[in-house]
Amino acid sequence: MVGLFVVAASLVAQPKVIAHRGYWRAEGAAQNSISSLRAAGELGCWGSEFDVWLTADDHLILYHDNEFEGRKVEELTLEEMRRHHLENGEELPLLEEFLLVALEYPDLHLVFELKAHNNKERERKAVRAAVAMVEELGLAKRTDYISFSKDACVEFANTAPYAKVFFLSITGSLSAKEIGEANFAGADYFHLIYRLFPRMIKRLHERGLEANVWTVNRERDMRWMVEHSVDYLTTDHPEVALSLGGVGSSSSCCCH
Ligand code: MG
Repeated sequence: MVGLFVVAASLVAQPKVIAHRGYWRAEGAAQNSISSLRAAGELGCWGSEFDVWLTADDHLILYHDNEFEGRKVEELTLEEMRRHHLENGEELPLLEEFLLVALEYPDLHLVFELKAHNNKERERKAVRAAVAMVEELGLAKRTDYISFSKDACVEFANTAPYAKVFFLSITGSLSAKEIGEANFAGADYFHLIYRLFPRMIKRLHERGLEANVWTVNRERDMRWMVEHSVDYLTTDHPEVALSLGGVGSSSSCCCH
């Protein structure tokens, strides 16, 4: 019986493991930093997720929150942003600096989140600048795009039609049909949405779309996601997801 269970378990498709804001729990790392990108690559994650803003003076920079010291990030200059460092002492990375390091990890996929900008013209500019930079550095084949902004997702799908674009949502606000009609690759939904509406995963798959999930940190929740065939699992604990059999950066080895 045990043997049968192992065989059956091995037949379940395992999700690709994405480190949420990089593997920032690694020693000396910080969220959205070059060190967390390196740690994700060295751990053997399938992908590493990160957050990007366009500053008021047209620099693409990694940062998560909407505000920085009480002011909107999109209204700040690079100099204003870089007056402060990440908690591990690193400078806030420019996208270009970050992508240059990504070149050192050729098996690692990049899951590029563009933050939802209030200024939609600036948001479109950010999309075009981001895609141009990713293409110029030869990273187009291993970069997926995600955003809570449907407008940004549409712009990514138009600007980089070869790329996978996933619509992020905490409420699951688009149906599988709407995601397909928008030419997105799939949904990237908050884990409770799939828990409450597991048929969402099935509906995505029926349309040839994929299901990404965030942010799954408990082992039992990871197991539920595996049992329900999510395609990508975004987590702050990629080492746990990999140890459960999640897919890493090497096709020959899906663990550790
Ligand atoms: Mg993010």
